[in-house]
Amino acid sequence: MEKKQTNFIREIIDTDIENNKNDGRVHTRFPPEPNGYLHIGHAKAICLNFGIAADYNGLYNLRFDDTNPCKEEVEYVESIKQDVKWLGFDWGEREYYASDYFEKLYEYAVELIKRGKAYVDDLTAEQIRSYRGTLTRPGKNSPFRERGVEENLALFSRMRNGEFKDGERVLRAKINMASPNLNMRDPVIYRIMHAAHHKTKDKWCIYPMYDFAHGLCDSIEGITHSICTLEFENHRPLYDWFLEQLDVYRPRQIEFARLNLSYTVMSKRKLLELVEGGNVFGWDDPRMPTLSGLRRRGYTPDSIRKFCERIGVAKYNSTIDISILEQSIREELNKTTMRTMAVLRPLKVIIDNYPEDKEEEFEAVNNPEDESMGTRKVPFSRELYIEYDDFREVPPKKFYRLSPGKEVRLRYAYFITCTKVVKDEKTGDILELHCTYDPATRGGDAPDGRKVKATLHWVCAKRAKRAQVRLYEHLFTRENPVGNDEEEKDFKDFLNPASLKTIHDCCIEPALINANPFERFQFERLGYFCVDGKDTKKGRPVFNRIVSLRDSWAKIEQTQKNRGLNKKNKNCFS
Ligand code: ATP
Ligand code: MG
Repeated sequence: MEKKQTNFIREIIDTDIENNKNDGRVHTRFPPEPNGYLHIGHAKAICLNFGIAADYNGLYNLRFDDTNPCKEEVEYVESIKQDVKWLGFDWGEREYYASDYFEKLYEYAVELIKRGKAYVDDLTAEQIRSYRGTLTRPGKNSPFRERGVEENLALFSRMRNGEFKDGERVLRAKINMASPNLNMRDPVIYRIMHAAHHKTKDKWCIYPMYDFAHGLCDSIEGITHSICTLEFENHRPLYDWFLEQLDVYRPRQIEFARLNLSYTVMSKRKLLELVEGGNVFGWDDPRMPTLSGLRRRGYTPDSIRKFCERIGVAKYNSTIDISILEQSIREELNKTTMRTMAVLRPLKVIIDNYPEDKEEEFEAVNNPEDESMGTRKVPFSRELYIEYDDFREVPPKKFYRLSPGKEVRLRYAYFITCTKVVKDEKTGDILELHCTYDPATRGGDAPDGRKVKATLHWVCAKRAKRAQVRLYEHLFTRENPVGNDEEEKDFKDFLNPASLKTIHDCCIEPALINANPFERFQFERLGYFCVDGKDTKKGRPVFNRIVSLRDSWAKIEQTQKNRGLNKKNKNCFS
């Protein structure tokens, strides 16, 4: 593991421990709403919350924020648990649900009423909105604001008993309709929803609002540091207000900047739109920024945790270049994956001076970064496949690969020279190449010291197996698909039509035919690939390209610099 860097949240915790606040305890939580699958932004929050607790020998809770029965599903709860575990965090017994506390939260609401701090309002949602005022204009008190405690208690109890229809009444906190902070203008804390809940079923027809429930759940669980994203900053006074009025244990809310990644979207609502609209094949489509998508694409938990560590934690919003995520998996796979040769778009090469029924094997290094990974045998014979793109009949300037009369090296094998191009008479398409080889260059070096400018990967035509390969590009063509609010455009207008390219008959080294789902390889010169966990059938592997080999640190640093991100995210490049 890279050394954990400090950040402003860790500094707050250090100070709290020094002052023996909370008796030196550290207890955090990750509170997903089960209304979609987790994405890489959630990974940042998980690594932060759970990582901090682990480092301080503290505790962490997984708490489902299931206060809205209409948007939530059991499928999401299960996927969230799977993803958190996969990321490497074990919450043990500490799996909680806001709905576990519905009775307790109800009692808190009753207590607020008794203390004259909450009232039942008969205004419609529409009226409440118009009474609320604006940033420049104070709100107006509801005519029901001064109801007596007894009447409020009776009405709230009747709300619970199902005597009213959805939206007919709400319970509101009695704070200040003229507060400059709109969140403090008598926010709604309970609403009527005659809807079954995935856990409490039909027990409740009133449900607490997030702002009311969240802080109180934190308090009930003894959370010391309630870490959330920046948009909750001006909800903090409200968070504190409930705890203060009820005189209960007070966790501290700390906000940090949410993760934004270039060329993708990060809100569950938008991701759901892509899933439901059929723009992707599902939540686990390898193009999605979801953890299930990244997992299927071939990302490892470690590469995602390292990425989260690298981007750090800040108090201002910024966008991280997606190449930083790609670099973190590339670095890992460079060290861990076996190299193999695969040809995506095969072009047949016939070596005319190689004996027709001869076959030999070459010793290939499995990973030059790690000798312990050993070597393997790669079969060779008279007919081979090379990459279509590695040949040009009329080579442009600086094209050093194969062309008529040119000599190149076949990786691990021989030097070959192209002598003839066979084309389809009608279409002019190149069908195959004829070459000669130099037997003296066996193993890939010429005894007379002559050099070639290119080394090509290849597979033996006789022994090659077939596979499907899926190549991916960014899901969107724009760095920020959401754009700004003035634009009329929908983010889906910027979907990249070339984000998935499927190639059906790629040639692979024979041993790859038995690769297992989620096994990862480097295809030499092409990138890192992962066996698809869903569509692979026995003897018919499907490979997802995780990432190409291309990007270098220099280039990434340059993009970040151009985007003015270097100063703020210095730690990205350490
Ligand atoms: P979304 O907008 O994607 O629906 P959310 O905030 O509504 O996200 P929740 O399930 O409520 O999703 O989030 C659970 C936790 O994850 C919250 O503490 C939230 O602050 C955090 N979180 C969500 N998105 C990000 C992000 N992009 N970066 C960092 N943390 C995030
Ligand atoms: Mg949310």
